[in-house]
Amino acid sequence: MDFRLSEEQELLRRSVREFAEIEIRPHVREWDEHQHFPSEVIPALAALGLMGIQIPEQYGGAGMSAIDYCICIEELARVDPGLALSVAAHNGLCSAHISMFGNEAQKQEFLVPLARGERIGAWGLTESTSGSDAAGMHTIATRVGECWSITGSKTFTTHGRVGHIMVVMAITNRTAGSKGISAFIVTHGTQGMHPGKKEDKLGMRASDTSEVLFEDCRVPVDRLLGEEGRGFVDTMQVLDAGRIGIAALSVGLAQGAYEAALRYAQERKAFGKTISAFQAIQWKLADNATRIEAARLMTYRAAYLKDRGDRTTLASSMAKLYASEIAVQAADDCVQIHGGYGFVKDYPAEKFFRDVKLTTIGEGTSEIQRLVIARQLLAR
Ligand SMILES: Cc1cc2nc3c(=O)[nH]c(=O)nc-3n(C[C@H](O)[C@H](O)[C@H](O)COP(=O)(O)OP(=O)(O)OC[C@H]3O[C@@H](n4cnc5c(N)ncnc54)[C@H](O)[C@@H]3O)c2cc1C
Repeated sequence: MDFRLSEEQELLRRSVREFAEIEIRPHVREWDEHQHFPSEVIPALAALGLMGIQIPEQYGGAGMSAIDYCICIEELARVDPGLALSVAAHNGLCSAHISMFGNEAQKQEFLVPLARGERIGAWGLTESTSGSDAAGMHTIATRVGECWSITGSKTFTTHGRVGHIMVVMAITNRTAGSKGISAFIVTHGTQGMHPGKKEDKLGMRASDTSEVLFEDCRVPVDRLLGEEGRGFVDTMQVLDAGRIGIAALSVGLAQGAYEAALRYAQERKAFGKTISAFQAIQWKLADNATRIEAARLMTYRAAYLKDRGDRTTLASSMAKLYASEIAVQAADDCVQIHGGYGFVKDYPAEKFFRDVKLTTIGEGTSEIQRLVIARQLLAR
């Protein structure tokens, strides 16, 4: 076993960190306040390879490994979890689905512009009445001549309004349950597809989230992504990989919150000492640093298994569950260590506290991760 990152990976971490510090940090508060999706930074993200991190170079991507992917998401989340969520959804959901299950023509037409950052990706599984129970969806696709007609709606779609290319899951056979769901590639502007309500969110506010509505939205038959009826099964594989990304996002967010707390503890004085001199504060710092290290190792191990080509369902869910829950604790302790200043917007603590809650909800709640983990354990 070798726990060291390679020199290239250390360099990657330094480059993404420097980019995040210089290009993102100065705008974090403004983007959060105005719920502004920063499309203006997409070209710079693309220049660093961050819009096609794991997409092979032949399709315009950076061809990086799953561990490299974690490093990139972690470093973005350390500064702005909202932007990191957008990068993770673009890479880990929409682009990954097309990369894993698209045919050559679909990859040339859709994956290349996504990987180059010329187009932004969205991915629609969740509906207003089916989130955890995703197979209980109502959106339906009916074959009409040489087209599929999609009718229904998707909720909480990251990039529902700003995205250009969306992967949409819909029922193609009502009697086949989860085996009657298929995936389609739909481009924004297609007649019958309308962005719906933009969500006004607690956190992750720089990441665009909205409803997307479909009314007899006709897409050509060659937009079927993967095999007919395999959309849900493929989705589970996309999520196995995507959850490693949310684990990395959680590690990065926890690291950002921990560093803010450490810095503040060394500056703030009470009873004639810096508060870092008090054991109660030291234990919080020690516990968080330890938990973050454990979460990072679990996340990198899941990524390592993915890079080896292993099935990662168990490792991905364990990493996502643990990393997101310790991140909630890190953000909570960050506010606590800041005292009253943790409650106001002049310090980063309150934003980490708001952003972090998404990590225990998106791409499967903590309860669903426990369910997936238990199923895997019981099936052994
Ligand atoms: C900011 C944001 C971005 C998102 N981006 C996307 C996106 O790009 N694409 C997309 O498709 N979706 C996206 N989602 C949706 C997200 O994946 C869902 O919100 C999530 O899966 C939970 O579904 P739900 O909200 O319907 O909650 P529900 O499924 O209604 O769950 C409510 C509660 O019940 C619990 N629960 C449900 N079933 C069980 C069970 N069997 N056992 C125990 N407890 C259970 C849940 O854990 C939760 O605590 C996003 C959500 C948010 C908030």
